[in-house]
Amino acid sequence: MSNVPELLRVGTGFALSAVDPAGTPGLPEKKTVRKDPKTWAREQLVDLGAQLATQQEMLFATAKADPKDKRRLLLVLQAMDCGGKDGTVKKVAGTMNPQGLHIVGFGPPTATELRHDFLWRIHRALPKPGLVGVFNRSHYEDVLVVRVRKLAPKRVWLSRYPQINDFEQELADAGVTLVKVMLHISFEEQQRRLLERLRDPTKFWKYSPADVDNRAYWPAYQEAYHDALAHCSTDLAPWYVVPADRKWYRDWAVAHLMLHAFKGMNLQYPPANFDPQRERQRIEEGVSQT
Ligand code: AMP
Ligand code: MG
Repeated sequence: MSNVPELLRVGTGFALSAVDPAGTPGLPEKKTVRKDPKTWAREQLVDLGAQLATQQEMLFATAKADPKDKRRLLLVLQAMDCGGKDGTVKKVAGTMNPQGLHIVGFGPPTATELRHDFLWRIHRALPKPGLVGVFNRSHYEDVLVVRVRKLAPKRVWLSRYPQINDFEQELADAGVTLVKVMLHISFEEQQRRLLERLRDPTKFWKYSPADVDNRAYWPAYQEAYHDALAHCSTDLAPWYVVPADRKWYRDWAVAHLMLHAFKGMNLQYPPANFDPQRERQRIEEGVSQT
């Protein structure tokens, strides 16, 4: 297993501004893989994806065999607009059986959601035991967009960092393995991707004029991201920053992070709760039809 998780993890002395969005930490040197890194990473993703699918199946099977086993995995994706959240869901989560996935996107809260605490809608969206959850945006929006666009006073969003840490501790106690990933793109890459969306009529649906408004707040968002990652990267629920200007690196790295988390769960296929030998006999001998 590679050292990708270690390289991308938010730890002491972290500075978001020091992370190069075009970087490829952990990727072997070109001369060792003997092909162009993009081709290599795409090939590797096929293998990583197959491993993720197996892990997810073992998780699903475990919960089915033992209702007391509450384990599940939750991938939390955060990024600026055009950061690649949808692409990551498609390319990385898409390697696993859709039946075992629980994917939820979070937009601006509805009137009902606003009547509750900010974690209310998050609780309701959690994956059930045995499932792999994916959050496309999350409770972190409540310390990001809410802070930057001044949707709540400072004392409110400041109090949310410890609340989030307590909440994530509760999740860990309830069997949830969290993998929190910020897809980090550059200002220039966001411009390229926004313009691409406007050039291609099949991508218009992904575009929102509000994205350009948010772009004007770029430095404030970077600061808000830095603080959220620095305050809420804990041993139980660490944050990872994945350089995401290169989509092939992004997918490869996120697949690694998920696989690392799965391996920490030590999953296995559950033993049969019946006697396979006896069942084989019953089938071979034939049961008389009634
Ligand atoms: P998208 O991910 O492109 O569908 O956009 C969803 C939008 O919803 C983004 O602009 C988010 O910032 C916004 N959003 C998500 N959660 C919240 C929240 N808690 N408060 C305000 N806006 C939010
Ligand atoms: Mg969007």
